[in-house]
Amino acid sequence: MFFIFGLRTKVDRSGVVRQVCPHCGNHAAQVITRRSTKFTLFFVPLIPIRTRYARQCTVCGAQFDVSKAEAQRLPVG
Ligand SMILES: [Zn+2]
Repeated sequence: MFFIFGLRTKVDRSGVVRQVCPHCGNHAAQVITRRSTKFTLFFVPLIPIRTRYARQCTVCGAQFDVSKAEAQRLPVG
């Protein structure tokens, strides 16, 4: 009997907002991404380990972590 288990991170693009980038100062589109890591057993995602949100500036490419509350509050359109 053996088990195949591991971790899998899935990256979802949850939306785009227009905000001033803290890095380059441009009022530009920021891509909001959600990275969810799950424990997998036989390649089936079972248990969520952690979920992180980030936004990336489309002008300079800088990426910033955002909290879940902040990501949900953003006016994604
Ligand atoms: Zn920027």
